[in-house]
Amino acid sequence: PSPLLELNDLRMHFPIRKGAFRRVVGHVKAVDGVSLRVEDGETLGIVGESGCGKSTLARTVLRIYQPTSGEIRYRSRSGGTVDLAALSGSALDEIHRDLRIVFQDPQSSLNPRLPVIDIIGEVLGVNGIAKGRELEHRVADLMQSVGLRPEYMHRYPHAFSGGERQRIGIARALASNPRLVIADEAVSALDVSVQAQTINLLQDLQEQFGLTYLFVAHDLSVVRHISDNIAVMYVGRVVEKAPTEQIFSRPLHPYTEALLSAVPIADPRMRRHGQRIRLAGEVADPAHPPPGCAFHPRCRYATELCKQEVPGLRTVTADGHAVACHYAESLTLNPFADRIIPE
Ligand code: SF4
Ligand code: MG
Repeated sequence: PSPLLELNDLRMHFPIRKGAFRRVVGHVKAVDGVSLRVEDGETLGIVGESGCGKSTLARTVLRIYQPTSGEIRYRSRSGGTVDLAALSGSALDEIHRDLRIVFQDPQSSLNPRLPVIDIIGEVLGVNGIAKGRELEHRVADLMQSVGLRPEYMHRYPHAFSGGERQRIGIARALASNPRLVIADEAVSALDVSVQAQTINLLQDLQEQFGLTYLFVAHDLSVVRHISDNIAVMYVGRVVEKAPTEQIFSRPLHPYTEALLSAVPIADPRMRRHGQRIRLAGEVADPAHPPPGCAFHPRCRYATELCKQEVPGLRTVTADGHAVACHYAESLTLNPFADRIIPE
């Protein structure tokens, strides 16, 4: 069968306007030619530093933005495939039941003036799923599935902890019986222990409801345990995509190597030794990306060729490991070279 979601050469360029006549003087190429497939029940992690375009990609898939070009192929419940990029009006509203998002900051994404029953119930009401007593029952069920006590449904968001508020956000996302949930830095603002609990909860819910996840985060260690596959983004493009264990054991892109080098070591028997790979400078400005490989000003392997030619995303192994680097086959990357295991 076709994948649940397939992005084909997706672009989201925001015009930059200047002067009295609001003339377009350039474009911020936040998403610049992304192609990805997401299978049913899969969790695809999307990582990169902030400013790499991952949140814009998430919002474009949800059609919060109208993409500049490209396709968002989605396999609907009837089995047919629709291009979300070309949908509008009620057809889009219908799809919005299937595709839901959980935001980073429940503090600002939950209305502080509404009790939980209304925050979650709104989605049930708007979509004609339930009302009255039935709505109350559904809200109670949803609260229970995310580990919240239904008797608190008349409380307001401020009465809950950060982790609990994120659970309210998750329950709200689940209220319309979605198939695809996008978690945009959904655990990034939480303490490490609460992060782990929330990730476990998301995994349980995935199994229970047969969900597919796009899990967006800036931190590789956060996506590691939940993702089947990981796509690494840099300045609007996917620079590497592979099964999770391959990203960690055999990264092929120098940017991934640098991101991995920053991942903390959980195992106390391992300790750091020598130099870590430091990422010099900042993510390139997507309004003025460097010529050639956008990563070249920060890449320790860059050559003259890298400054001139854009490396395309190429599949380099039989299991679908894809990378956009001119030297993927010849570089020997080892983000853990500076780590020794004493015993
Ligand atoms: Fe570095 Fe060149 Fe590869 Fe880009 S193409 S990641 S600059 S080696
Ligand atoms: Mg973001």
